[in-house]
Amino acid sequence: MSGGDGTQCVHGGEHGTHDVGAPIHQGPVLTSTYHLGRPEEAVPGADFYARADNPTWREFECRVGELDGGPCTVFPSGMAAIAAVLRGFTGPGRGVLLPSDGYYVARALAEEELAPLGIDVRLCATAGDWAAALAAGEPPGLVMLETPSNPGLEVCDVHAIAEMAHAAGAVLAVDNTTCTPLGQRPLDLGADLVVASDTKALSGHGDVLMGHVSAADPVHAEKVRAMRTRGGAIPGPMETWLALRGLGTLDLRLARQAENAGALAIALRDLELAGGVVRDVRWPGLVDDPSHELARKQMRRWNGVLRFTLPDTRAVSEFLSRTSLVDSATSFGGLRTAADRRARWGDAVPDGLVRLSCGIEDTDDLLDDAVGALEGL
Ligand SMILES: *Cc1c(COP(=O)(O)O)cnc(C)c1O
Repeated sequence: MSGGDGTQCVHGGEHGTHDVGAPIHQGPVLTSTYHLGRPEEAVPGADFYARADNPTWREFECRVGELDGGPCTVFPSGMAAIAAVLRGFTGPGRGVLLPSDGYYVARALAEEELAPLGIDVRLCATAGDWAAALAAGEPPGLVMLETPSNPGLEVCDVHAIAEMAHAAGAVLAVDNTTCTPLGQRPLDLGADLVVASDTKALSGHGDVLMGHVSAADPVHAEKVRAMRTRGGAIPGPMETWLALRGLGTLDLRLARQAENAGALAIALRDLELAGGVVRDVRWPGLVDDPSHELARKQMRRWNGVLRFTLPDTRAVSEFLSRTSLVDSATSFGGLRTAADRRARWGDAVPDGLVRLSCGIEDTDDLLDDAVGALEGL
């Protein structure tokens, strides 16, 4: 399916005929078993058991795979997708190099489950020196990036690191959660694998967990799919259908979220420059953001997540008590604006660092509410 982002979100992955009377929306296919036919015959490609495949998964995977630019495998959460890649593409002598400032559970999985198996786990800051980190020990089997990173909104050069990783014999995976496939296409930038938490903006309504892995190489895709079937961590058809339904409006939601984030980032930067309590505002779309030039080069469009730092936990608490539109909640990419003080989860960040996920509220309303609350601090 060709066309712009909106068209692809709605029509992408469609291969069906338009038979008269056929439903336009299939709905979730709720079955654990399928008709097998005559016991002496096997029909190639036919569904046989729902741990292996399901038509609703295929619909989701075709659409997301087209957006990512490679075959997609859906998982029941972002962590299930990341776990499959961390477990499948590492081993003794094939360690992993991953961000020190990315999503903390990915790091915890590597350190708690892979390292005890004798697998080398090394870390590098997203905006750090990846060439030095690659050269600092035995060549890894897997390099995993997250850009822009959660929660710091730091950016790294996917294309340059892909070349270094490949020269070292490693597979490169990129966690594309903060961008979604509309914001960045890591496979086009040279990555081998995309992993994502579709719980966030891709599904976008804060009512479902979902994840996926897309691969440039069909052999990698088959390996990931086989791991899902063996491991049994599979999404329910109902949840997959909810994610697919959410994806239909991703283009519209992302546009409003980015508009809100852009307006807020500028207003927060003004407060920062005026010497108020707001410091360290980061959003890759801000023209004076340290990562702006690189982000502009490799991202297709901006998203709705920014961060800033208040003096301490009490200031964050006061900010939250003064707003009426900003939820105190974790996760991001939903319809409602949400602020999360990340130190509460153990991220190595200042106590007052807030990750702010802009929802799709009207920009003027959100600005009045959030900036008003911050000005009053
Ligand atoms: C939320 C998140 C994950 C984990 O996804 P779940 O769907 O919560 O399992 C992984 N990576 C990033 C960048 C995330 O923000």
